[in-house]
Amino acid sequence: MFTDKIRKWITRIGGAASLALLPLFALADDLDLPPPPPPQMTEILDQVYYYFDNFYISMVVVTEEGAAITDPGGPERAARLELAIRKLTDKPVTRVIYSHDHYDHARGGKIFKDAGATFISHEKCMGLLQNDPLGQVIPPDITYDGQEYSIELGGKTIELRHFGPGDGHCMSIFYMPEQKIIQAVDVHLNGMLVTLDHLYSHEYVGVLNTLRRIRDELDYEHVVNGHLPNSSPEWLDRDLEFVETLYKEVLNGIKNGDSLDILKSGIKIPAIEDWQFYEQNLPAHVERMYYAINHGG
Ligand SMILES: [Zn+2]
Repeated sequence: MFTDKIRKWITRIGGAASLALLPLFALADDLDLPPPPPPQMTEILDQVYYYFDNFYISMVVVTEEGAAITDPGGPERAARLELAIRKLTDKPVTRVIYSHDHYDHARGGKIFKDAGATFISHEKCMGLLQNDPLGQVIPPDITYDGQEYSIELGGKTIELRHFGPGDGHCMSIFYMPEQKIIQAVDVHLNGMLVTLDHLYSHEYVGVLNTLRRIRDELDYEHVVNGHLPNSSPEWLDRDLEFVETLYKEVLNGIKNGDSLDILKSGIKIPAIEDWQFYEQNLPAHVERMYYAINHGG
């Protein structure tokens, strides 16, 4: 579950209906809101950490040969992340892994590039990451094609798995088989439904496939997502169950010839009634699933 402090913060901004969830993932610094919870670096085990700051999460893997991180976030956040890593090790960050092709997770990499890090993503991310209109994203130095890539660093193994379209076109699931840790960015949140504007590039049938393959093909005991702390294998199961139900309900409705409006007002999923923004945002998730089933990505 969320800590009380985080829940209160989310509830307060959720009350500002027109702002919806936008500040959660993009603009918190620009709005007149209570300050977000303070950054926190949490060790999962074996010098593998997750860094939560301004509602973005980066993995931090510390080894004797240097550190590896995922998703630096924006430049200010990346500078705070770099300082937090300095408290853990005197070794440099040598690998930066992009989970996917969305700029809000990726624009702060310069501080690590300047220190010599190698940037890694799936091959399908390359075009978009090279075309950042603000020119801030450091393009990947190494890309992998296909479904798997393995990084060996200081005795630790990080695997990346690409299970096809999900959120964006080139999702890599971060996986440490020995430590049984995964990070699933933007295909999984624990107990929250985001607004439609966060679902534009959410290929919902692909998200369902990705969640199924995570559960069936990876061996994990620790689950991290891209935005909210305190996820778990149980939360991932609940999320998969929600997406499975959403898929079935919308597909049945389409086969019945129901209109999108009827589905948006009629579909209820009682198993997730307690999730943040269930009432406000479930219709948006029905709409995005309807589009994915009818149209594709
Ligand atoms: Zn995101």
